[in-house]
Amino acid sequence: MSIRHFGLALLLVPALQAQVTTTTLHDALLAARADRAGEPAVAAAFQQLAKEHGTPLYIYDQRYIQGQAAALRSAFAPRFPKLRILYALKANTNPAVIGLLRAEGIGAEVVSQGEIETALKVGYQGTEIMFTSSSKNPAEIRRAIELGTVLNVDSMDELGQVQAEARRQLKQARISFRVNPGVDPHTIHQINTGIAESKFGLHLQGGLAFKAYAAAKAMPEIRIEGVHCHIGSQITETEGYTLTATKMMTFVKELKEKLGLKLDFVDLGGGLGIPYTDGQTLMSPEDLAKALEPVWKAGVATLGYEPTLWLEPGRFFVGGSGFLLTRVNTVKETPIKTFVNVDAGFNTLMRPVMYQAYHRVRVIGRTQDVQKVDIAGDVCETGDILAEARLLPKAKAGDLVVILDAGAYGFSMASEYNARPLPEEVLVDGDAVRVIRRRADFPELFRTATSAK
Ligand SMILES: *Cc1c(COP(=O)(O)O)cnc(C)c1O
Repeated sequence: MSIRHFGLALLLVPALQAQVTTTTLHDALLAARADRAGEPAVAAAFQQLAKEHGTPLYIYDQRYIQGQAAALRSAFAPRFPKLRILYALKANTNPAVIGLLRAEGIGAEVVSQGEIETALKVGYQGTEIMFTSSSKNPAEIRRAIELGTVLNVDSMDELGQVQAEARRQLKQARISFRVNPGVDPHTIHQINTGIAESKFGLHLQGGLAFKAYAAAKAMPEIRIEGVHCHIGSQITETEGYTLTATKMMTFVKELKEKLGLKLDFVDLGGGLGIPYTDGQTLMSPEDLAKALEPVWKAGVATLGYEPTLWLEPGRFFVGGSGFLLTRVNTVKETPIKTFVNVDAGFNTLMRPVMYQAYHRVRVIGRTQDVQKVDIAGDVCETGDILAEARLLPKAKAGDLVVILDAGAYGFSMASEYNARPLPEEVLVDGDAVRVIRRRADFPELFRTATSAK
């Protein structure tokens, strides 16, 4: 007996020692963000992940996501007693990620039938879903009405189609209108959705939004529940929101006075920005809640009733949770630049190419010989550069590089371009790793091709 105990103790000693010198995966992710990816213990954690799961690999930090949900709620709940928070699924559509947010009591904001089906799969009721899109097809409209989902209507044309489908189903369709408030939140053009020339929403300008409500009110097949706007993405200042909220509350008052409408909710959209660079400070949820509170309270006072405030961020919940781990294939010096060629590209992470987005990059396990490099993707396109002109420790073939803040609009925008199977996604909870989407394989590339042998 005692010998066996002794043996066990001997076995345990190296394991304990190993624990002292390593770090939890969650800590390793935090350390990479804090620019300590060169440290051996941090490097060991990423090397282990790459060894077990391959690269390119999306890694999400569960605690970060839960922390963001808590931060948003604790900023808004004390100031806005009638509050409903939704998650815009398109930022990261992995069911496990969505499930984390659902567990936090957060609703679902979707932009397609595929996202409706995903939300249902995760456990949402149809009635807990809000469906926004400026271009819904007939099947999507049918499905949303069947499920009792709120349709966020974007045009008079769509309103007519929703009415006709509701009549066919002998149901009342629950709707809000997406309003274009004509506000510029000062973000980049591709994600500036609330300016007057964007394709989204019914304009307040020219009374278009008002006419839509007046028309809908006369339709027995339509149940008007609220009003919606979403002025853009990666918004870092409060002014765009406060200006929008003022316009929206004025409009809600007009609806009450001229049409006798009382709305259940006012949805101010998503768009909360996150830091993408070291040392960047920007609007916090607390800043936003504080800035909105007086505007909202004044609006409620003149309205004579309090609608529920809806918010629907995507990026805010998941962006900073994500790390894209990629391996260096080759390093190439040209007369002009040095390229670190990695095994991920714009097929894996589209944001740098699509939005000229900046993502921080860390070289794992290296600290020496800082040089200026471009991190180049493996897609056969000149434009496939993930990070340009970065001062980074010298990397060699086989080294790992991690791209930060890749949790939003990363995997959800990934494609199989260049016939590269979609990457794996893992969720880190403390020191535990869970595969939440396995790496696709080559046969899956041809799964839907009818002429493949
Ligand atoms: C994309 C989108 C969001 C989420 O935007 P984020 O910038 O990720 O917060 C919210 N609402 C609508 C209608 C959207 O299209």
